[in-house]
Amino acid sequence: MSCLFCKIIAGEIPSKKVYEDEYVYAFYDIAPMAPVHVLFVPKQHMDSADAVSAENSLYVAKIFEAIPKVAAELELANGYRVITNCGEDGCQSVKHLHFHLLGGKKLPETLA
Ligand code: AMP
Repeated sequence: MSCLFCKIIAGEIPSKKVYEDEYVYAFYDIAPMAPVHVLFVPKQHMDSADAVSAENSLYVAKIFEAIPKVAAELELANGYRVITNCGEDGCQSVKHLHFHLLGGKKLPETLA
């Protein structure tokens, strides 16, 4: 298994876990870009948003069920942002689908 996030899910690489269920693993980003920066990953490997299909979309649905629970626990009542980077132009650096949950301050409107 060469995928970094598969290794994190398997516990082979340490992470600061925030949430886990049958489908989803969530942990703090190692290089936070906001006061709260959590990554949500599906427990089944898929490379990116571009690999989501009718066969695996339940994992994505479960991530989006988990996000509001975690957001409430982390006191993000004032709002937050969810982002996924996809492929080369999306600047995706880890090739295992993940969603960034960012919050804890007013985030910039711009993309850059
Ligand atoms: P992306 O650029 O969208 O592929 O995001 C990958 C994210 O994974 C970046 O925000 C990294 O800081 C984060 N990251 C990389 N390695 C680790 C790790 N071992 N534990 C937690 N987060 C990580």
